[in-house]
Amino acid sequence: MTPMSSPYDQLLAATIQHLEDLKSRGVRHVAIAPETLRSLSQPVKTVSAPPPVSKAGPEISMTTPPSQPAELSLALPGETVPAAPLDPQAKAAAFAALRERALACVKCAHLASSRKNVVFGVGSIDAQLMFVGEAPGADEDEQGEPFVGKAGQLLTKIIQATGLQRAEVYIANILKCRPDTPGQSAGNRKPTSDEMATCIPYLHEQIDLIRPRVIVALGATAVEGLLGKTLGITKLRGSWKTYRGTPLMPTYHPAYLLRNQAMSEKRKVWEDMLQVMEKLGMSISEKQRNYFLKA
Ligand code: URA
Repeated sequence: MTPMSSPYDQLLAATIQHLEDLKSRGVRHVAIAPETLRSLSQPVKTVSAPPPVSKAGPEISMTTPPSQPAELSLALPGETVPAAPLDPQAKAAAFAALRERALACVKCAHLASSRKNVVFGVGSIDAQLMFVGEAPGADEDEQGEPFVGKAGQLLTKIIQATGLQRAEVYIANILKCRPDTPGQSAGNRKPTSDEMATCIPYLHEQIDLIRPRVIVALGATAVEGLLGKTLGITKLRGSWKTYRGTPLMPTYHPAYLLRNQAMSEKRKVWEDMLQVMEKLGMSISEKQRNYFLKA
């Protein structure tokens, strides 16, 4: 006769069942509050011998840098990219719902009250290539679209130089609201780590739904938001990193190229883009290979 299971066993079984159900529906990451995660890591006081987790149970691991809200990964051992294709209608609906939530967000009260628009993101939700920047500036706040100011126009040129159109990729930022600059009529500021931690779940969800094959992180803040604090962008750029199984190429922010017009700096960004094109299996002409090389 099977012994009556304890409340602990029942809760554990129900949790495993719930995670299995999510996994069978293609979900690979679930958000979990830091307090919950902390309490999960406390020793269980009243249970002498918790039952072994079923062999068929999902492998659960922390996948997010410690500075950010934690997530549990439901990935199978060795799995890097979610396997089950998303139903296109369900994906579009989930993306639209996510957008609605972001547009109504007031989690950063100071930014919600200073913004003109929430700058959610732009482009194809089926994009193979996704660009992630830092945060909207004044032009983006005004128009509700990322990368439309001077740096954005340069980004559009870079995208077009690969042979892609802006509408074929997806462009988003770590922060969806313009960082406020009280008392200043112009200028930008870097997002604070609190603002980044508050806003990043929206970007995680965008990436989870779009499932790009490659992510390009534009500048140090984008890398920090996606991978946590590591090295400076000068050291990081040009080498592949991985964001939850997706290849990520760190490169300079286009605003840096506007400040530093040296051909050598443009070439560095272009070499990063050549690597991205190669990773995506795009054809590269001789002319493209030689952009920004001295004659
Ligand atoms: N810089 C960014 O990082 N993002 C924008 O959307 C515009 C400028």
